[in-house]
Amino acid sequence: ANIETNLEIPLAKRQGAQGVGLFRTEYLFMNRQDLPSEEEHFQLYKETVESFAPDPVIIRTMDAGGDKINPKLSKIEANPALGLRGIRYSLKEQDIFKDQLRAILRAGHFGNVKIMYPLVSGLEEIQKANEILEEVKESLSRDGIPFKKNVEVGIMIETPSAAVIADMLASAVDFFSIGTNDLIQYVLAVDRTNEMVASLYQPLHPSALRLIELILKSAEKADIEVSVCGSMGGNPLTALILLGLGKIDSISMYAHSLPKIKKMIRNISLKDAKDISSHVLSLSTFKEINNYVNIELKNRFSDDSNFAHLN
Ligand code: PEP
Ligand code: MG
Repeated sequence: ANIETNLEIPLAKRQGAQGVGLFRTEYLFMNRQDLPSEEEHFQLYKETVESFAPDPVIIRTMDAGGDKINPKLSKIEANPALGLRGIRYSLKEQDIFKDQLRAILRAGHFGNVKIMYPLVSGLEEIQKANEILEEVKESLSRDGIPFKKNVEVGIMIETPSAAVIADMLASAVDFFSIGTNDLIQYVLAVDRTNEMVASLYQPLHPSALRLIELILKSAEKADIEVSVCGSMGGNPLTALILLGLGKIDSISMYAHSLPKIKKMIRNISLKDAKDISSHVLSLSTFKEINNYVNIELKNRFSDDSNFAHLN
């Protein structure tokens, strides 16, 4: 499941989530005047990690900025989506980043924790973030505090840059998680929060699908795990296309979507999903793609209202 607070843990467990594929930690920073302490981070992560153990909990480091603005943390920017957000923010405000990393590593002592960096666009960002992670590990060792030494580190693939050089980035990380919400926004140059261009925000646009296919190929070649944690994975129609685009190890989504996605996956063969996706990749307009996919879904799942029309 994707979660934002510990309040969502019971629902995620009830819905059958096998771990947390995306913990959006920026919500810990919202609606308050001060910064969360290392201890606050730690208690929240420890509770989550213990609840899901031995299943993994992937904690994404803070992704403030962009569409997740905290006026205390972020300055007003002309183009926040292209500004100081995700890993860029953490590399600039390293004290905030270090507190969070310390807490994640400490929580790792109590279960299966993984770290994920958001909005990566190049290798240097991963290298710098990992240098800081090593410093934090050394400081925890010096302080004699137990922590997870061999923690897995992954990145969100949610910028076109990261998607295009996914083969290069794969060698520096343990896993990828595809953030389709931002990836679509950036590849189509469509603000994900702007109603006036909402009709142009098309998850099945050929350019988005080609990029996702490329990411999946790069991950498979490098033999690293790849999951999808953007909203495409939580909609049966788009999730079906994802399945057919390449090898995906896991999908993470809001807990309420889990049953319908499980149902879709259990009712289609991988071969059929591949055939549908490969036909979709041969179509060049969103309209053709949308019509074709809706007909396929209607033929297979006509009795199920969960499999609604994409638009
Ligand atoms: C994404 O961009 O797809 C994603 C999962 O991250 P967020 O929606 O939090 O930006
Ligand atoms: Mg994102």
